[in-house]
This record gives sequence, structure tokens and C-alpha cells, in this order.
Amino acid sequence: MLSVNDALARLLAAALPAGASETIALGLADARIAARDYTASVNVPALDNSAMDGYALALADGAPLPASFPVVQRIAAGQLGTALPAGCAARIFTGAPIPPGATLVVMQEDCELLDTTLQLKPDVQPKPGQHIRRKGEDIAHGATLLQRGDALNPAHIALLAASGIGDVEVYRPLKVTLLSTGDELAEPGDPLPAGGVYNSNRPMLIAMLRALGCAVRDGGKVPDQRAATEAALQAAAADSDVVISTGGVSVGEEDHVKAALSALGTLDLWKVAIKPGKPLAFGRIGNADFIGLPGNPVSAFVTLQVLVRPFLLKRMGASGLATSGWPVRADFNWPRPDSRQEYLRVALDANGLQLVGQQGSAMISGLAGAHGLVEVTPGQIIQPGDMVRFLPFQSR
Ligand code: AMP
Ligand code: MG
Repeated sequence: MLSVNDALARLLAAALPAGASETIALGLADARIAARDYTASVNVPALDNSAMDGYALALADGAPLPASFPVVQRIAAGQLGTALPAGCAARIFTGAPIPPGATLVVMQEDCELLDTTLQLKPDVQPKPGQHIRRKGEDIAHGATLLQRGDALNPAHIALLAASGIGDVEVYRPLKVTLLSTGDELAEPGDPLPAGGVYNSNRPMLIAMLRALGCAVRDGGKVPDQRAATEAALQAAAADSDVVISTGGVSVGEEDHVKAALSALGTLDLWKVAIKPGKPLAFGRIGNADFIGLPGNPVSAFVTLQVLVRPFLLKRMGASGLATSGWPVRADFNWPRPDSRQEYLRVALDANGLQLVGQQGSAMISGLAGAHGLVEVTPGQIIQPGDMVRFLPFQSR
């Protein structure tokens, strides 16, 4: 059996970036992968501007603070003021450009206005430059906004938008077809036949794959028969970059995925020393990659998260795939070492990480309350206070 690290290395070696790109509106770019570098061709802010609603003052360097200031202009956001003579004030609003000659801004709470004459409240000692946001202090002209291979998140989208970029060149999403094997599977929403099991993997995996930026297509349910499995795999592979199936990949008589894959294409990897999730198949059918995930929902979730996610991201052109995660204090006991690398479902609180729910590979309820996984290396036991590797969910 392959170790998790070896399996991951093999998957990444086989993950060839598809390369094709497209230009899309920025508002649609969440989770997509940048296909080129972006640098700022403007300064943000574009001009020195006020950080407060208040008054811009023109104070001569080192001169004593005047007792009062005539208010000679009013500048709202979006307007340009005119030069402010020394000893004068301009009414100014947050985001409005600082007029030439103004040296600082006092907030309106620190001021008293008598008609058109401004006085500072007692003890208010304004400092030169205060409450002025400087031109380019957030994003300087020429600064790097995004590098090729970055997965865009909402903050990246704001960064590009603030810099005046309205659309973005990203790699095309991978076309992923999802197949659900299992005669027992019933559709959520339908009545459950005796002996039936609702298909929970399909909507879970569709959600996970969409969050990764894949274009997911449901390839439907596949009966537990060899011929039907081959036909479904073949049809899905003809029109997909990647085909992902769940279930039927173990060694029972009802498991046909491995044999179908070997007959249609190549089986390059099977069985990984991971818990939950040992049965996992990887290979190719025609021009498509094929990944057979285990049927148990927690196994499908964990193997997708740990092994398949980096593979898909690399296929979509993402860089910086070093496995995420950081050391966090465990607040639980895990006394049972295993020969496989284990992934426990945990929640994070002020004391550290807690195990949530039951840890069995079919226990969806524990998964639903978890904030992430703890990686337990083969043979490792855990005691409260140990620092363990925490892999939070939702990290692209
Ligand atoms: P298998 O690997 O096909 O033997 O499936 C292992 C277990 O996972 C069995 O209990 C199946 O009923 C269950 N299972 C398989 N596919 C799904 C699915 N799509 N949704 C929920 N449970 C599933
Ligand atoms: Mg099955």
C-alpha cells in the first residue's frame, strides 16, 4: 500500500496543467486561478484624501496654533478642492481629496463651528499629517496584485477592482463528471426504499468541487454491474477532463470500478494507507483522468480533501500547493496507533482541538460539526497538550 505522501507525490506528478485560459468578469472570478501576473497601473488611493469627516487645516510649519480658522471651502468625496491658504480650514468628508496646502485633518468631533469660523475644542493638539490617507499607501503603482497560479478569493477580487481592473484572465475550469455507483442509492427527496441509502456523496462532492473552481457535471447513478460500469466510465471520460466516481472500488463482488478502469484504460494507483479511505483508484481513460473514491461518505470527503484537491488544483494551473495546515494543541486523547495515516475530525476551541462525533468512516454527523482534520501519522498516539497538525477546512 502506498503512503499518503507517496500517493500525493504520484498524483501531483501526473497532474498536468491544462493550460487553456479565458477572460471573465471580475465578479465571476471567485475560486478561479489567475493565468497571468497582475500589477497595479494606478495608485490606490489615487490622491491624498481624508480618513475622517472633519476639517482640513492649512498650518504653517512650526507656527503656533491659531485660535480660530475661517472655513473657506467645502469638499465632498468625488470633488476636488482648491488651494487652501495658510491659517484657513476646509470642510471635508471621508474619502475627499486633500486640497493643496492642507497639512492635516481634524475630526468634526474635535471642532466647534460658529457660523463660518472653526475653533478646536480645548486640549485638541493636531499632529502634522493626521487623518490623511496618502496617495498609493494601500497599493503603489507597479505593485504586484496577483501572481499566475494564485487562486482568487474575494479579497483578491477587491484588490483588482480597486486597481481598476474589470476582468481577469483565468485558467479554464476543469470539466469534472461525477458518477455515483451503488444499487442501494436513492435520491434525497424521494421516498427511501427498503434497503436503500440516500446518495449523500453526490451533493457533498459537487459542493466541494465547485468551491475548488471545477465545472461539475452529474453523470448519474451507476448500477453495480461490470458492463454498466464500463459504459458509464467510457461515456463520462469522452467528455471530461476528470471523471470521479464514488463506491464500488473495493474488492467485493459488487465492486466493478477497478476492473472496468483496467479494461478501458490504465490503473496507475490503487489503495493508499489512509484512514478513512483505503480503497482509492487513480488512472486514465482516453484523454481523461479517472479517480475512484471510496463509497463511505467520510472516506470520500477525506480522500478528496487530502489527495484529490491538490491534484485538481494543479491540473487547473494553481501553484503554491504545499500542503496547508499548522501545529495546534490537541485537547484529546488518541491512544490507538494505526499503521495507516489517519485523519480525525476535530473542532477548534479556546483549549485547542477537540474530537467531534464518532470517527467512523460512515459518520457524517461528526464531519458536519468539524472545523478541520488532524493528521495522525502511522504509529502516532496523541495526548492532551501535544502539538498536532491541523488542516482547517475551506482553505483553498
Ligand atoms: P462501496 O465502496 O460501494 O462498498 O460503499 C461503501 C459504503 O458506502 C456502503 O455502505 C455504501 O452504501 C456507502 N455509499 C456508497 N456510495 C454512497 C453515496 N453516494 N452516498 C452515501 N453512501 C454511499
Ligand atoms: Mg457499492
